[in-house]
Amino acid sequence: MAAIVFLLPPLAIAQSADGAFINIYSARHYPTDEALYADFTKSTGIKINRIDSDDAGILTRLKAEGAASPADVILLVDAARLWRAEVEGLFLPVKSKILEEAIPDNLRAKRADNGGIPWFGLSTRARVIVYDKLKLQKSDVDSYEKLADPKLKGKLCIRSGSHPYNLSLFGAMTEHIGPQQTEIWLKGLVNNLARNPAGGDTDQIKGVASGECNVAVTNTYYLARLMRSSNPAEKAMVEKLGVVFPNQSSWGTHLNIAGGAVARNSKNHTNALKFLEYLASASAQNHFANGNNEWPAAKGINFDNPALKAMSGGVFKSEVLPVSAVGMNQIKVQQMLDRVGFK
Ligand code: FE
Repeated sequence: MAAIVFLLPPLAIAQSADGAFINIYSARHYPTDEALYADFTKSTGIKINRIDSDDAGILTRLKAEGAASPADVILLVDAARLWRAEVEGLFLPVKSKILEEAIPDNLRAKRADNGGIPWFGLSTRARVIVYDKLKLQKSDVDSYEKLADPKLKGKLCIRSGSHPYNLSLFGAMTEHIGPQQTEIWLKGLVNNLARNPAGGDTDQIKGVASGECNVAVTNTYYLARLMRSSNPAEKAMVEKLGVVFPNQSSWGTHLNIAGGAVARNSKNHTNALKFLEYLASASAQNHFANGNNEWPAAKGINFDNPALKAMSGGVFKSEVLPVSAVGMNQIKVQQMLDRVGFK
C-alpha cells in the first residue's frame, strides 16, 4: 500500500488572485464530491489543490513529509483511521464554535490538551447485509453473528478482512462479544466464503446478484448508488436483493464515519478550518446525503434521499460505541484475521 504514495503526482499548486488556497489530502473516492469543492471555491475564493489516495496512503505520506508537509486538510473515510492519525499526532486540534455546535459529541474526537478537537465526523454510513431474496429469508441474516452460521457455508461474499471498513466492523464486534468470540465468529465467516475476498463492496453486491454468493456485506452508499442508477442492468440487479440493517434487536447496526481534520503542519489553518466548517454546513451536509448517499453527521439536517429511506425504512438502530475503542482493536483484529486465514 505504501507504494501508492510514491505513485501519486506532485501537488499542482493553484492559487486564486489573492493567493488563497488550501491543500487537501483526501481518501474520499467519490466523484460527486467535486461539486462540494467547486461550491466552496465559488463562495470563498479559496482555491483547492487535492491529492487523492486511500487512508493508509495518506497517513504514510503525512508521516514521510513531517513538518515540511504542505497538507492543510485531511479527509479520511474510516473511524479507525481517523483515530490512528490522531494518536500519531498528524492532526492539529482546532477550536471551532461552528463545528462543535454542528457535530454531535459521539461523532468527533475527544478534546485534546490544548482545548481543541483533533477531528470531526462529517458523514456516516451503515455496514449492512444484502441477500438474494429467492435463496434466503431475512431472518437467516438479520445479525452479523448469523453470517458465521454453518448453514451459510459457501454463500458469503465480503471484501478483504483487513480493509478499514471491515477492520472497524470487526473491531466493533470485539467490543460487543469479546475477542475470543470474535475470533470464532471470524473463523465462521472464512468457512462460509463463496470465494476469496476480492474487490470492493459493489463487487460483493454484484456477486449476490449474479448468484456467485447469496449474502454479502456492504456500506449503504454503494447500495444506494445502484438503487439510484439509471442503468437498467444495475436497477434490475438490486431488485433481486433484500437489505438488512443487522442487529436491530441487539446492539444495532455498525456505523462508520467519514471525517476531516486540519493537518498538524498546516501553514494555512484559518482557511483549512473554514473548509471544515463549510463541510458541516447545511448545504454541504445535504450534498453528502443526496450526492453520495451518506447520512449527515451534523444535527438537524433535513434531507431527502429516496434510496436511503427505502432501504432503512427511515429510521434504524445504530450501535453506540466510542470510536477510540474500535480504533484500538485494529491490531488485535489483524492478528485474529491472520490466525483464521481471513485474507
Ligand atoms: Fe467507500
